[in-house]
Amino acid sequence: MAFDREDALKKAEKLLRLGRLDAAIVEYQHIVDEVPNDWKTLNALGDLYLRANQTPRELRFYHTHTGERLSIAYRNASGYLTESLAELTRFLADFRTGDRKPIDPALFDILDGVQRLTASNGTWEIISGYRSPETNAALRSHSRGVAEHSLHIEGRAIDVRLTSAKTASLRDAALAMKSGGVGYYADSNFVHLDTGNTRSW
Ligand SMILES: [Zn+2]
Repeated sequence: MAFDREDALKKAEKLLRLGRLDAAIVEYQHIVDEVPNDWKTLNALGDLYLRANQTPRELRFYHTHTGERLSIAYRNASGYLTESLAELTRFLADFRTGDRKPIDPALFDILDGVQRLTASNGTWEIISGYRSPETNAALRSHSRGVAEHSLHIEGRAIDVRLTSAKTASLRDAALAMKSGGVGYYADSNFVHLDTGNTRSW
């Protein structure tokens, strides 16, 4: 079926009237993807992103190894929230050794962006956050696919799934954002996201 711009616009406008900003953004984004020179929609989309950025950005987590839960606003209109970033550093510590390192806040923007693009409201399940060099070496010795210079060691990578979205959709959304590395692990049902160069595997 051919893409119906008018129909998509109506849908987006309806979502806006219902106050569903994130879902409307997804719809407008879809129109722009299909009709690249649609400046009117591009402008509307830009305004929507601005409006969306005025609201505090909140993320919900569940750590699969520690069982801990955390709901946290990590940034607002003025920028990242220092106390929240410290709390996230603690939450995403190496659970095997207790070591921690500040997590690159751009990683949370990626999670936030993926969540918006998939229009989902779920909880991020953490499989792996920061890894000390010792832990990374230990994992490497009994599992293929663990990189020697893993960005987990730098606090710039996270392995996650989202309760309300298919893992393949997370991968697609992250790829569309082109803001770092994206690894898709279908067997274990998680994605690796990092703030390194844009690449995928
Ligand atoms: Zn990873």
